[in-house]
Amino acid sequence: MSNLFYQAHGRKPVLDQARGVYMWDQEGKRYLDGSSGAMVCNIGHSNENVLTSMRRQMEKSTFGYRLHFETEVSEQLAAKLTDLMPDGLNKVFFVSGGSEAVETGLKLARQHAVSTGQSSRWKVISRTPSYHGCSLGALAVTGYRPLNEPFVPMMQEMPKIPAPRAYLDGLDAEDPDTGHFYADMLETKIQTEGPDSVLAFIVEPIGGASTGALVPPRGYMERIREICDRYGILLIMDEVMTGAGRTGKFLGSGHWTAQPDIVVMSKGLGAGYMPLGAVIAKQQLVESVLDAGGFAHGFTYAGNPLACAAGLAVINEIEVQGLCDNTTVMGDRLLARLSGLMQKHELIGDVRGKGLLTAFEFMADRESKAPLPTHLNAHQRFVDLAYARGLIVYSRRTRDGTEGDHILVCPPLIINDQHIDEIMDCMDASMVQLSQDIHADLKA
Ligand code: PMP
Repeated sequence: MSNLFYQAHGRKPVLDQARGVYMWDQEGKRYLDGSSGAMVCNIGHSNENVLTSMRRQMEKSTFGYRLHFETEVSEQLAAKLTDLMPDGLNKVFFVSGGSEAVETGLKLARQHAVSTGQSSRWKVISRTPSYHGCSLGALAVTGYRPLNEPFVPMMQEMPKIPAPRAYLDGLDAEDPDTGHFYADMLETKIQTEGPDSVLAFIVEPIGGASTGALVPPRGYMERIREICDRYGILLIMDEVMTGAGRTGKFLGSGHWTAQPDIVVMSKGLGAGYMPLGAVIAKQQLVESVLDAGGFAHGFTYAGNPLACAAGLAVINEIEVQGLCDNTTVMGDRLLARLSGLMQKHELIGDVRGKGLLTAFEFMADRESKAPLPTHLNAHQRFVDLAYARGLIVYSRRTRDGTEGDHILVCPPLIINDQHIDEIMDCMDASMVQLSQDIHADLKA
């Protein structure tokens, strides 16, 4: 019996070691990490350069409280990060994870409003479905019913608009009218809420676990930016999953000209080596808060030197190994192969993604886009079939968390063609089995 309670039932194999894109359990079974953990291990496991940097830092210091000391390594990482941001975003606040980063971004936005005489602004508009974290503030902007529901009485509910899902609504994602149609829902929401009450809009530039690697339609991001500017609303990009090269650029939002006021990052920044997150904001925004007395916020582990050493070494690996370029090339190949899988297996109704944030969605019927019956639990069954064959992929319910099934295929950014072959062979075999099992269930 385990004393841990991460899972309702079922024990998992015990992890022994991990190298590159592979992981081994204590029985010696090998797994290809096709989801980089939870889209975290962007540079692969046990990278020797990162471990060396961490060892060096460990020998110097592993903790210095931010109100007592500055550390060289946190300054270096902040400088490196701001170099990689759009112009003007050059103030960094370190945290230890994605939910902490989102909380920090929300509170920074609010304190900016208070310090600039706009205290009436507090509402943060977000989207359904979306995922921004599991702490109560981050959960309030998350649009994913099974996660929100138990906690509704404990949270300040925040306004939501639909995430743009052109494929479900029968719209052409390449047509800018489609992007404008969805973005204009933001303006309508601002007007019904009262423009003076709205503080910010938070968005995953490319949907992560919530929508399953869904890229916004053409014109969406630019129109969102315009609307935020028109109403004096801050645009927060949640790059927790899309950041650190995952989509082929350092930031997922880098695929568009629309630029954020605040970026929140985590996952691929610490890349599984250390818990690390960052909030990067525009200088004037931060200065107004500091001038008004300082940011009333901070976590004990903020700017932990060991985490910063890991983050700095991780970014170095992304640059030195040219991992953004590899992600673009391998991502295009993986997406093409997933389309081939869809041609072969009629249960797959959609394939999508950018870089190595890719996904496919199961459907009962491609024409009507009807999801598979929920009780079939197709996404979990596919994950289990692949896992048994030594491939780890990640899955979720795709439509506000209550129905639909998508599988995220997000291997480390270091993958090569042989790894893609291995992933696809395993997924094809798993699909053959899943299709047989599901057809048998549907007949029964
Ligand atoms: N935002 C997004 C977009 C995420 O994908 C996640 C994690 N899946 C989070 C926030 C929360 O991050 P964490 O689990 O590190 O708290």
